[in-house]
Amino acid sequence: MASPGGRPLIAGNWKLYGTIAGGVALAEAVRQLVTAAGAPLDPSGTPARDVVLCPPFTAIAAVARAVAGSGIAVGGQDCFWERKGAFTGEVSAEMLHEAGATHVIVGHSERRELFGETDETVARKAAAAAEAKVVPIVCVGERLDDRDAGRAQQVVTRQVTAALLGFPEAAIAAGRLVLAYEPVWAIGTGRTATPEQAQQVHALVRRLLGERFGPVAGTVRILYGGSVKPENIDALMAEPDIDGALVGGASLDPAAFARIVGYKETPR
Ligand code: PEP
Repeated sequence: MASPGGRPLIAGNWKLYGTIAGGVALAEAVRQLVTAAGAPLDPSGTPARDVVLCPPFTAIAAVARAVAGSGIAVGGQDCFWERKGAFTGEVSAEMLHEAGATHVIVGHSERRELFGETDETVARKAAAAAEAKVVPIVCVGERLDDRDAGRAQQVVTRQVTAALLGFPEAAIAAGRLVLAYEPVWAIGTGRTATPEQAQQVHALVRRLLGERFGPVAGTVRILYGGSVKPENIDALMAEPDIDGALVGGASLDPAAFARIVGYKETPR
């Protein structure tokens, strides 16, 4: 685990679920659980693991208010690369920041598959987020046909290299880059990559980051995502290059999410 200050990061991707009131209730429940007995606390009373909740755009400001002062952060699920202009329907990283977000997911496989995002647009979004001092959580991951054809490493290499083309090194030094390896075949399917399969790709991502950015890359957190649950988080987090998790379905259940945040790291 090579994350900044050794702090793992657990992020919840709420996707297109919930009302504003429902999001606030979920955030309050998470806040209570992760700062109570369910998860370790540091001496200041904030969780010893970093936690980010990523609600739909409309709930960001209200959720940010609900978790204010708890140490829990809030993120968007996407952003546009331009700061302003005639781009109907888009939301910039600055706008997310103003609403209370400190993080933003970019390049999620659902956006790549359903909304035509490319390696190039993902790179522009990641750089725009960094520019706005918002931490991009850059998602990469192969599809099932790529894995079955033995192309998983090749696909992830292409995605990581492209996403970080032009990414400002200063943002990394400031702790403002997170990668998430999410094999597409494991998202929302109940089929998790084995810890060994995930570790193999995480080690590759770590090496690619090192080749591109040098030693500072060792501080970048690499999250695993894909059907993470209370039952599999401990084994995943025991792997040396898994620095946290990006959690979809289980992040909508406060008890399950709190258990994931409070995972017990087992020595390898
Ligand atoms: C995700 O959407 O990023 C995700 C990993 O979803 P799930 O945990 O439901 O597989």
